[in-house]
Amino acid sequence: MTGTRTQVVWDYAPAPESPDHVRLRDSYGLFIGGEFRDPVDGERVPTINPATEESVAEIAFAGPQDVRAAVEAARAAQPRWAGLSGLERGKYLFRVARLIQERARELAVVESMDGGKPVRESRDVDVPLAAAHFFHYAGWADKLSYGVGGREVAPLGVAAQIVPWNFPLLMAAWKLAPALACGNTAVLKPAETTPLTALLLAEICQEAELPEGVVSIIPGDGSTGATLVRDPDIDKVAFTGSTSVGKDIQAALAGRGVSLTLELGGKSANVVFEDAALDQAVEGIVNGIFFNQGHVCCAGSRLLIQESVADVVVGKLWERMGRLRVGDPLDKNTDVGAINSREQLERIEELVDAGEGEGAQRRTVACELPDRGFWYAPTIFTEVAPAHRIAVEEIFGPVVSVLTFRTQAEAIDKANNSAYGLAAGIWTDKGAKAFEVASALQAGVVWQNTYNHFDPSAAFGGYKESGFGREGGPAGLRPYLRIA
Ligand code: NDP
Repeated sequence: MTGTRTQVVWDYAPAPESPDHVRLRDSYGLFIGGEFRDPVDGERVPTINPATEESVAEIAFAGPQDVRAAVEAARAAQPRWAGLSGLERGKYLFRVARLIQERARELAVVESMDGGKPVRESRDVDVPLAAAHFFHYAGWADKLSYGVGGREVAPLGVAAQIVPWNFPLLMAAWKLAPALACGNTAVLKPAETTPLTALLLAEICQEAELPEGVVSIIPGDGSTGATLVRDPDIDKVAFTGSTSVGKDIQAALAGRGVSLTLELGGKSANVVFEDAALDQAVEGIVNGIFFNQGHVCCAGSRLLIQESVADVVVGKLWERMGRLRVGDPLDKNTDVGAINSREQLERIEELVDAGEGEGAQRRTVACELPDRGFWYAPTIFTEVAPAHRIAVEEIFGPVVSVLTFRTQAEAIDKANNSAYGLAAGIWTDKGAKAFEVASALQAGVVWQNTYNHFDPSAAFGGYKESGFGREGGPAGLRPYLRIA
């Protein structure tokens, strides 16, 4: 023995994932009719790495004529695509799924460079789940009527699909895989700040020899999305994003007979009862709110703790938050990466200021943040009242608001006291209690003793202002089918 060890200090050596294997083009066109094209009336803008504020590549944004061209290509391709047998369509989807797996490392690195999320998450969650969604719906393509209770089905036609910046590749997979399996063609608009993995997916569609026009990918800003949903020749809109834009789309489609699914925001309650395994619950709370910097529509951003254990849970949580590693998204040890954009950082700061202004107690982890890029250290609010903005509005950042309750009935009332209803978590050792509470919660997804757990075979979607329609599993086929 050489000396007495009184303390073990764990630290991590840097473990950066190399971007050397990534072969990005300097500039990307619009993917329309099976090829990359220059925009006719759009512009070219750089896409920024939020961890460095440096440009990663230049991206073509679609103007109104480009949107029209994409919808025309989708319309022209739809009858032949729908005319293929389900088995044949399934083969293409299996091919896309396998190509995503083959290019998994590259996709994970690009996702983290373009969006700021830790590469551990893009590698272990986003990319494998994107492949899993294509595998799942490839399997459904020749069994569609079994997915809807044995009824006759037909595709809707052309689907316009708009996805946000928090899970760019995964949301593209959630939208494209069921649409294509059902015999629809699709025009997908990725978010302005994170178009790159969708464009790599366009390359994958080419590699898979998907017939031209079956998938078009047209990056752009909100105006591109607004033009797309107003195109007179679409049959279906699938949107994931903010509630305000969702409402705008719903108004634009009113009376047009275009089918619509909306997956909007949330202020999901993560409910911890006194009989829960508290250490396990703390891990679930961390996963619920700090996963993907809290840029998660179903984030457990309202933490409801039973009063008798509130101090203990908050103490353990605060201690655990201090051990989260914030920084370089490409470091495999990083837990919390960069905030997706300057605008999102400003939104988080504005709401946190409002929380302090309204009298809640704020604690933010003291950690070194990089000089450049957009960062927000993990933050907890206690002394939160149900009417505070931080208890009501979606912060969409690494910020958790803690409220307490005394009884099961109060927990249910407080959890349901929201305009949203996307997800919820329940932490208890009592199975019967979990079922009773779950059935009383107005939330599309309820997790018990876990959080942010996704599976392509499980339906996902909201209640109230969190939207309508389901994605995932057989329920995810319905929004893309005309059912006789
Ligand atoms: P948006 O709803 O604006 O963005 C979602 C997608 O819709 C993006 O592709 C966006 O393009 C596009 N879009 C924007 N305006 C229109 C329009 N008028 N018609 C059609 N499409 C449009 O979300 P934000 O990025 O502005 O984020 C704002 C807030 O929304 C966040 O702070 C968060 O609270 C919430 N949000 C919720 C998400 C969820 O998963 N439920 C996902 C993202 C955000 P562009 O990228 O160019 O803006």
